[in-house]
Amino acid sequence: MSVRVVARVRPLLKSEREADVILRTGSSANASEKSQRGEEYTFQFNSVYDAEVAQQELFDAEVAPTIKHLFGGFDVTIFAYGVTGTGKTHTMRGGKSLADRGVIPRLLSGIYRRSRKIEKDTEGETTVQVALSYYEIYNDKVYDLFEPPEKRTLAGLPLRDNGGKTVVCGLTEKPCTNLKEFEKLYDQANNNRSTSATKLNAHSSRSHAILGVKITVTSPEKTQVSTASAIDLAGSEDNRRTENDKERMVESASINKSLFVLAQCVEAITRKQHRIPYRESKMTRILSLGQNHGLTVMILNLAPVRSYHLDTISSLSVANRTRKIEVREVENDPIFKGPARPAQRPSLASARQP
Ligand code: ADP
Ligand code: MG
Repeated sequence: MSVRVVARVRPLLKSEREADVILRTGSSANASEKSQRGEEYTFQFNSVYDAEVAQQELFDAEVAPTIKHLFGGFDVTIFAYGVTGTGKTHTMRGGKSLADRGVIPRLLSGIYRRSRKIEKDTEGETTVQVALSYYEIYNDKVYDLFEPPEKRTLAGLPLRDNGGKTVVCGLTEKPCTNLKEFEKLYDQANNNRSTSATKLNAHSSRSHAILGVKITVTSPEKTQVSTASAIDLAGSEDNRRTENDKERMVESASINKSLFVLAQCVEAITRKQHRIPYRESKMTRILSLGQNHGLTVMILNLAPVRSYHLDTISSLSVANRTRKIEVREVENDPIFKGPARPAQRPSLASARQP
């Protein structure tokens, strides 16, 4: 299966004018951008969501259907890609009000709802445990967001390969039994995230933030573990345009490097090249696009106005190539109790690929 790539165009901000809108969404999941010279670029996606689309609608269409697969033993990765100020954090985390909640709290809510249902339907014979990890990659170093910034070491946490998956060593894993508890943990952790002002966005995130939701389903016969990863990537803008100071330039260089490596990985995979440069940045090692994820949804966030033009075109082309990546569907092996018997392989035939 390929990575599902969907585009989401944010509404105009108060400071932006209708006259500067150059990105249009079409009827058949395409987005077209017109340059100053009148050239028009059109890109096709699995779905395109325009400014009117509510958080609920995006979640129901793109993320809710993955929960079934998560409980069927597949890993799920949802990531937001785009220039700073295009709505990645709005999409993933969202606002405070119920209607504004983003993909992440809704995903957790869906996971808890399904867990309760399973426990009820099996009269408690099957139980579901949820545990969270949350970390950021900042200047190509991994920091645990469940730890206060004072506890960070200069080198950050190391990565390790574990049966084909990249794992972060020494990461805190917090059991979390309900949505209220989640919200508290998530809010606290977000305060530990590295943000600083840049010219493009007053609270621009300079780091990739990765939330891992591990679910363990235990029935009398087996224990099955799978993980949903929800990733809010750092901004993909070209740092020459932001007039950053020196420190910001160092950050920008490593953000841009990891996103550049991501683009190279995408390029290599779609060209079916033998060598894919995953290992050249921590973010791409962790994301391992096309390597070992069950289901991947990339949400490409876009701003419709002229000032974003060059970055919009570059992220549209990266995302467009991502669509062609084949992802091997690897089910996590259940751990059986008692006599060995063949694993039931859940089928992905019903997944929502158009
Ligand atoms: P990013 O994380 O990509 O830098 P943000 O999520 O911070 O971008 O969004 C930039 C601004 O646009 C914020 O003020 C945010 O509230 C607003 N915004 C983004 N997407 C939407 C949307 N779909 N609806 C309403 N406001 C949005
Ligand atoms: Mg952000």
